[in-house]
Amino acid sequence: MTKSKQDYLKVIYELGGNNKPVSNKDVSNILGISAPSVTEMIKKLLIDGYIESTPYKGISLTPKGLVEAMKVLRRHLLWEVFLVDHLGLNWEDVHDEAEKLEHVTSSKLEKSLDEYLNHPRFCPHGTVISYEDEEVKQNYKALNKVAIGMKVIIKRVKDKRDLLRFISTTNLNIGDEIEIVNIDNENIIIKKNKENIILIKEKAAMIFVE
Ligand SMILES: [Zn+2]
Repeated sequence: MTKSKQDYLKVIYELGGNNKPVSNKDVSNILGISAPSVTEMIKKLLIDGYIESTPYKGISLTPKGLVEAMKVLRRHLLWEVFLVDHLGLNWEDVHDEAEKLEHVTSSKLEKSLDEYLNHPRFCPHGTVISYEDEEVKQNYKALNKVAIGMKVIIKRVKDKRDLLRFISTTNLNIGDEIEIVNIDNENIIIKKNKENIILIKEKAAMIFVE
């Protein structure tokens, strides 16, 4: 399977294409590829049996497509763990490296890597690493949807460089317990231990808690 096909399946999966149809337009936006090119590739993936199309609704993954999408994503996340935990790269820098490595990883290498890392359950950003066909749902709440006074635990952050860089400048980590101190039009003030941290709402929307 080509790198490009793998990227499409992964994006369709990340858009929720395992459970509901997603539009070509959303795929085109995320990949930054023109609509006609996306349509071309969608045709190929349909012929290959990786996706199916529901008229007027969009495309979704077939069981075969799901297996492929999860495989690519799992390899991506395993490499992220390796790069952070064993090579000491910053968590904001590993996404781009993993984007490349995920496509050149054989099943054999994936297995060795997984064993070497001792079957990690999460990537450095808190995304669950799903094995085989077991799909794990993460029902976390975005931090901007939590009420004042609530105490929550940071479970996952979106893998976006500027967000990750910002979080690195604060004292926040995955697994931290925080309290929502105040919310106004633009900001959310949270407290970790005794320290207050101000987050703009846009950033808080990309931090997931439980
Ligand atoms: Zn990650």
